[in-house]
Amino acid sequence: MNGRIDTLAKLSQPLEPSLSKRQEWTEVITTHAQKFLESLAHTRAFQPSPSEGKGIFDSALRDEPQDPQQLLKVLAKHVEGPGVKLGTPGFLAFIPISTVYPAALGDYLGAVINPFVGNFFASPGAVRLEHLLTRWMAQVVGYPNNSAGDLTSGGSIANLSAVVAAREAHGLKSKNYAKAVVYITSQTHHSITKALRIAGLGDCPQRLIRLDAAYRMRPDDLERRIRADKRSGLNPWLIVASAGSTDAGAVDPLEAIREVAHRYRLWLHVDGAYGAMFVLCETGKTILAGMEQSDSLTLDPHKGLFMPCGSGAVLVREGRHLLNAYRYQASYMQDRASLASLAEVSPSELSPELTRPFRGLRLWLSLKLLGLQPFRAALEEKLLLARYFYQKIREVDGVELGPPPDLSVVTFRWRPKRGNDDAYNQRLLKTVQKDGRVFLTSTRLNGRFWLRLAVLCATTHREHIDLALEILKRNAKRY
Ligand SMILES: *Cc1c(COP(=O)(O)O)cnc(C)c1O
Repeated sequence: MNGRIDTLAKLSQPLEPSLSKRQEWTEVITTHAQKFLESLAHTRAFQPSPSEGKGIFDSALRDEPQDPQQLLKVLAKHVEGPGVKLGTPGFLAFIPISTVYPAALGDYLGAVINPFVGNFFASPGAVRLEHLLTRWMAQVVGYPNNSAGDLTSGGSIANLSAVVAAREAHGLKSKNYAKAVVYITSQTHHSITKALRIAGLGDCPQRLIRLDAAYRMRPDDLERRIRADKRSGLNPWLIVASAGSTDAGAVDPLEAIREVAHRYRLWLHVDGAYGAMFVLCETGKTILAGMEQSDSLTLDPHKGLFMPCGSGAVLVREGRHLLNAYRYQASYMQDRASLASLAEVSPSELSPELTRPFRGLRLWLSLKLLGLQPFRAALEEKLLLARYFYQKIREVDGVELGPPPDLSVVTFRWRPKRGNDDAYNQRLLKTVQKDGRVFLTSTRLNGRFWLRLAVLCATTHREHIDLALEILKRNAKRY
């Protein structure tokens, strides 16, 4: 047996590379990464590819090590190549995601240090670092000191976490779900209804509250529906408002909705996955007024703080509700210290996860290395760029405009003199996407096909908005 153990130790030696080996790989990978970053400014925002990355299947996993240069070639061709290019300045589709460089270094370092961040006892400093970030978010939003938060993998999980906290805070029992009414709108992100289903709340009646002309929830209709439901013996318990809807970028009237929630004792969750971080600039703060009055809030640093995919956050106004939803007893955790304060609560008692990546470091390193000021400036710039686009496209003949942008999404469509509107706009969009220098998408609002432009990529500046205008105008003329 001893002989076998020694042989196995030798065979597994590559798992513990020497300093020079580590340096060699790091050099190869970072050289590749820098080349990739340099190319982004000139890369098309959308790269159609007939093979759609299928070639990755031809590079099988083997027992033997493979050459890093070869692997990077495979990666470049089949993974980096096809599809949309997050982080390119012409990316004006969906909600743009981009990433600042220190975040990548934070991920690298976080994986190297690899603290056990699920548990305070195991990694008190790492846990405090994450609490510092959720505290900071709570503070910029205007949440009180006794709020609690968790860094999630994204907005969908943050929404799920908030829904579960709300369910527990309202003491809902499954036998009553069919009477427990939820209030949303047609603009609510699909991750909310998905979260309800995952949380076992799929039987809760869902009311779609009417929208105003700017696609915002109407508080008068909300109140009317809640009263009607109460009269019929139902139990209204949850309102989900949007602080920036994904489709139209609309911010629901949060103050008025909060008043209704308060009057009838409903939990108000605000989905700010797209919009909440705009609170960092003064203009955004004014637009988002009332957000601080919600019971829970979703934020997505991988949208509004330019983090790589995998950075969301949930905040709960009264922190104990998050703790009540997720705390646990486990005998193998008996050595953990007793809870001194919310700042020392283990993330695993504020979320469904135990072992998880050190999500905070990418954000901490970025905010520290760069300072907050450039983030504030970038967010205000994106708000202004959307307004700039709105003004410019308004001057174009034959264009119909959606509402003025609340945040950084603009909806618009051409109204051709002849032929079918929707077909015309669909054709126009296809042509713009084929050109590839900018990437826009569309949506359906009130049963019509609308083009939409969303500004949130860190590298998008005025010249890229001008380019989008030019490409749209030139192609629109051709039809
Ligand atoms: C993006 C988004 C989500 C989902 O967040 P993920 O991070 O993609 O999981 C939820 N709500 C809104 C409003 C969003 O824009």
